[in-house]
Amino acid sequence: MALQIRPALAMTDTLTKRQRSARMRLIRSQDTKPERTVRRLVSALGFRYRLHRRDLPGCPDLVLPATAKAIFVHGCFWHLHTNCRAARLPKSAKKYWLPKLAGNRLRDRSAGRKLRAMGWRVLTIWECQTKNEGKLMARLSRFLGHG
Ligand SMILES: [Zn+2]
Repeated sequence: MALQIRPALAMTDTLTKRQRSARMRLIRSQDTKPERTVRRLVSALGFRYRLHRRDLPGCPDLVLPATAKAIFVHGCFWHLHTNCRAARLPKSAKKYWLPKLAGNRLRDRSAGRKLRAMGWRVLTIWECQTKNEGKLMARLSRFLGHG
């Protein structure tokens, strides 16, 4: 079952700090619909991949070891997609969420840099970019080396 990627912001007031972090971890560890879409398209393009290689910086969502390519699929809210509507926070929620989400984004950037320094090519796909599958397919195909 896919969980809502974007949490109900109203809950932030009723949960303790510890409960909130537990919930965040839980939600983030689930397979998300955008991730499943990307996997399906990568398979359709004829590529084999591995999932969540924990030995690599940032634990990329999809990894193609033979060609040293890594794909991250980021939820717009959790990873603070710049200028994206899905990442917009209500004022009341900013104080709590912003530092955490900004932390996620810093970690993402650092993971990308480390991977590239190790010779990997890295593609980041945002949740909002998985809605148009034709466009996404073309992008994946370019990155993976078809067409
Ligand atoms: Zn977005």
